Amino acid sequence: MLLLAIFSCAHGPVAPPAPPAGPASTEPLPALDAPASPPLDTPPPSPDPADAARQWQRLAELCDGAGHRLAGSPGQRRAEQITAAWFDADGVSVRLEPVKVPTWIRGDASLQLSAPYAQSLPVLALGGSVATPAAGIEAPLVVIRDFAELGLAAKGKIVLYDVPMKPGVPAIDYYGDAVAYRGQGPSRAAEHGALAVLVRSVTTRSLGTIHTGGTWYAPELPKIPAAAVSTETAAMLARMATRGEVKLKLAMTPRFGPDSDAFNVVGEIRGSDLASEIVVVGAHLDSWDVGQGAHDDGAGVVHVVETMRAIAARGQPRRTIRGVLFANEENGLRGGRAYFAAHGHERHVAALETDLGGGSPRGWGVTATPEQRAWIEPMFTASRLWVREGGGGADISPLTDDGVLSVGLIPDDEHYFDYHHTWADTVDKVDPIALAEGTIAITELTWALANAEGAPPKGAPPSSP
Ligand SMILES: [Zn+2]
Repeated sequence: MLLLAIFSCAHGPVAPPAPPAGPASTEPLPALDAPASPPLDTPPPSPDPADAARQWQRLAELCDGAGHRLAGSPGQRRAEQITAAWFDADGVSVRLEPVKVPTWIRGDASLQLSAPYAQSLPVLALGGSVATPAAGIEAPLVVIRDFAELGLAAKGKIVLYDVPMKPGVPAIDYYGDAVAYRGQGPSRAAEHGALAVLVRSVTTRSLGTIHTGGTWYAPELPKIPAAAVSTETAAMLARMATRGEVKLKLAMTPRFGPDSDAFNVVGEIRGSDLASEIVVVGAHLDSWDVGQGAHDDGAGVVHVVETMRAIAARGQPRRTIRGVLFANEENGLRGGRAYFAAHGHERHVAALETDLGGGSPRGWGVTATPEQRAWIEPMFTASRLWVREGGGGADISPLTDDGVLSVGLIPDDEHYFDYHHTWADTVDKVDPIALAEGTIAITELTWALANAEGAPPKGAPPSSP
């Protein structure tokens, strides 16, 4: 079997359908159950610039104060402390729930063009890649644009998957096709005797930026080293290969250490009369080890913390709200799985995830039964964002798979994939007002979910026959 999971950081559990044309409905608006939702004839509130600046400063404190937050790294430890202190300072009860996370250490990487002439090329190992032999791997290049081309062409070669991401908005709709080559490419090539893999960075715009991200090996196949190159390098190598033989030498030293101790950071506001019913609002605390993980998913972390802060200031909700900062989305999904193992038996009414960056909110993706959808629909209408079927987030996917109503925020992601998983994903790329708009949208939906009458039961797992 060669069916590999892709835990992209921008991937809900359900493939997104075509983008909607506009607001979800122009029908007369049903009455709201949620007492504190805004009146429907007023525009959504704009963020107070001073409060937006304060939220952005928190993002900067996380990004600059922790360093990168790759699972198992010292930066992840620091990030747990920073965010737990925020919850505490905001009057939100906080606890750390243990998670064993993988420990992958990048090491060094170099790529040399050795024919038709000698030159160094920029390269970045894919997360989870194995190392090359110490002397490196030197071999002819073969350019592949579709898995179907692999065949005999790959044997004894370094495979370059030169598969461009298509442009479009929401960009997340165009991510999955291209990222399949990053996630599955190494094992698919190894099956045909390739020695190593290079992947064209998954982005539509580039200034020489190289995008890392997870790759997952099929256990029954040889594990071959895998690295990303920029779109520019990929395009150049592809052009050169049409003119004659191209030879490359790849040398990399990544390695796995023993699993590390990490934590899901869980802020909780206990409900009043419906306290045994839970609403989860989540983001992932880990990042890749390049850049600052500011959009991915530092912005989501700030959304969650600030939502909890706003709700704690507003008053006690009827249901219990948990703000969960998951420990390990990027290279293992261990945070989401650990949360489900510890809490899956509890009555979860809804789970919401924000993991598409800090852009201005545009819509919601929802995975729901008809009954759940009918219940949440007035709350969506109140948010004035469009809604579409399919969505949630990787960290909450174990809950989604268990039939819990799941929602993912879809912000303006036109530039999200310019920075995603690169050295350029830094806090200066996040706009304070857009970030705070996301907090408002999530706060209002979370508050409505926590207070509306008559939550429907969870559905049958979507994957069941
Ligand atoms: Zn992410």
